[in-house]
Parts: sequence; structure tokens; C-alpha cells
Amino acid sequence: MTERFDAVVLGGGPAGLAAAAYLLYARLNVALVSPDLGGKVTYPFALRDVPNQDTVWGAGLVHELAQRVAAGLQHHVRDTVEHVQRLDDGAFQLVLTGGDTIESTAVVVCTGVRAQRLFVAGEAEYWGKGLSYSAISHAPLFAGRNVAVLGGGERSIAALQILIPLASHIDYIEARPQPVADRAQVDAILSHPRVSVFRGWEVQQVVGDEFVTGIDLVGINGEVRTLPEEGVFVQFGLLPNNSAVRGLVELDHNGHIVIDENCATSTPGLFAAGDVTIVYAEQVPVSIGEGAKAGLSAWQYVAAQALKAG
Ligand SMILES: Cc1cc2nc3c(=O)[nH]c(=O)nc-3n(C[C@H](O)[C@H](O)[C@H](O)COP(=O)(O)OP(=O)(O)OC[C@H]3O[C@@H](n4cnc5c(N)ncnc54)[C@H](O)[C@@H]3O)c2cc1C
Repeated sequence: MTERFDAVVLGGGPAGLAAAAYLLYARLNVALVSPDLGGKVTYPFALRDVPNQDTVWGAGLVHELAQRVAAGLQHHVRDTVEHVQRLDDGAFQLVLTGGDTIESTAVVVCTGVRAQRLFVAGEAEYWGKGLSYSAISHAPLFAGRNVAVLGGGERSIAALQILIPLASHIDYIEARPQPVADRAQVDAILSHPRVSVFRGWEVQQVVGDEFVTGIDLVGINGEVRTLPEEGVFVQFGLLPNNSAVRGLVELDHNGHIVIDENCATSTPGLFAAGDVTIVYAEQVPVSIGEGAKAGLSAWQYVAAQALKAG
């Protein structure tokens, strides 16, 4: 018979660990499904003359949470969840990638996001050595330096807004036109004297020595240029890991799970927290707080269901 838990948490990052910690504290029968414990918290970032920077606030807390959860958890399933579906009695069935199924009264989804990659030479090599996917994490390190922002949509405009007061100059590369909510506002930002706009230019490779030193671009007419840069912000967007619950919960236009202030989704009994949701912003301390809220909400839900069942 398929084992039924009070609550199952998907994902062992900051949000999932915080949710699991509360559900364990509540003495519920909890399972955590995740290949790892810790999620995305180790990001060494260095620049020329700036040795490895600890830009992740709360990483120590995540490690402490991981230890606490590992010590209290009887069911850490080292797998991923392929699919979640609702059963007739209102509980959930989770189909794991390995083929097993488990059931749960409540589910907390904390599966995070992936950054959209550039897929050019030098990208992997210079990640963390001048190349960043997260302006809010790394922009302050580039004060007084030359940087490139690659993108075109809202995420790259948000990166420009925080980089303009910091960087000495910004090359903004938009290979193909992207939709933005407020074109007039974007045009005003792009006309800033310290911003050069390259529309229709594609990045061919990121170049450097020990650190990023520039990017090679090719234009529509085949013209090739090298721009000197100390930093490259790849700001195409984030891809939420939502495949397990697609079709079951409401998503926004970027695929983030829509939640209310209690981390409840559009499906009763299914909660979500951290980067995979609509909540601003993708940062470790935010995810820990959101995960704690989702854990508390799931606890409340399980308690209410138990009372109803008598
Ligand atoms: C390049 C980069 C740099 C960053 N730098 C910083 C920084 O300097 N400071 C900072 O505060 N934040 C930084 N962040 C953001 C920070 O890493 C995230 O905000 C935080 O880790 C989000 O926590 P989370 O628990 O929501 O998701 P994650 O940490 O992404 O954890 C997701 C978890 O879900 C698991 N998972 C995924 N799919 C499934 C599935 N189907 N079933 C089960 N488990 C699944 C994963 O294995 C993982 O355990 C950075 C992010 C990126 C991408």
C-alpha cells in the first residue's frame, strides 16, 4: 500500500528546509523529497582585485537548518517529484521520478528556479569570475567597473536600474526585441549617458584571462566587435521548476506559482515557497522566511483536516 504522510515537502533548499523544520517541530509525519539538502547556497564570486566574496546572506542558517532537518527527518527521499495529482478524498498522490508513489494530506512545493543560460563559449568558465546570473546578488561588487547586461526583458531592465548608480559604464545587449510593460520608462533608462545600447547584436563568446575581460559580439550585418568588460550579467530570466504541479496550480506568465500571503496556492492543501513562487526576490533569507510561512500554513491545514475527519 502507498504510504500516506501528513505533509510532503518538495525541495531541500532554504525554503524547503525551513518548511520541513516547522512541520517536524509540529510532530507531523513528514517526508522531504529532494536529491540534496541545501539547494543553491554556495556561490563563490570573485573579481580582479576582489577575492572570493561571501554574497549569500544566511548560508550558515541554511546549513544549520539542513542539520536540524536531517536529524529529525525519518523520510528523506533522495529523488525528485515528477507529478503531483489530487485524489478523490482531497489528499495528494506524488509520482517520483524513480517510479515510486507516495501520498500526503498537504504538499509544500519549494523546487526553486534555473537561470536561463546564454549557451556560448566562456559562459561556464567565467561563471563566478565576473559572470553573474543575479544582479541583486552581485551588482554592488561592480562599483566603478565596466559591465555588460545581456537580456531585453523586465529582468535585464531591473538589473540596469540597480547597476546604473554603481557601474562606471554599462553595455546593454538585446539580441532580439523583448516585450516590456512600460516602453517609455525603458527608453528613458536606456538613454542614460552611462549606458550604450546594442540592439540586434548577439554575444558569441565571453573572453578573459583568470577573470572576464570582455565579450565578442556579432551584428546583423556580420560585423564582429569585442567590448572590454569586467563583468557580464546574463539576465534573460528565471525558469521556475514547476513541472510537478503544472496544471494543478495557477502560474503567472513566467511560470511562477501564484501564492497568497500565507503561501497557499490556488489548490487547497498545496502550498509553495521560495524562488518557484511569485514572491520577490530570489534571495536566501527571503526563501527561508517564505518556507517557514508555508510550513506553518501546511501544519494549520493538516490540523484542520484531522479535526474534520474526527
Ligand atoms: C547564480 C545565482 C547566484 C545567487 N547568489 C545569491 C547570493 O549571493 N545571495 C543570496 O541570498 N541568494 C543568491 N541566489 C539566490 C538563492 O540561491 C535562492 O534565492 C535560494 O537558493 C532559493 O531557495 P529555494 O529553496 O527557493 O530554491 P533552491 O535553493 O533552488 O532549492 C530548490 C530545491 O528543490 C530541489 N528540486 C528541484 N526540482 C525538484 C523536484 N521536481 N522534486 C523534488 N525536489 C526538487 C532541488 O534539488 C533543491 O534542493 C543566487 C541564485 C543564483 C541562481
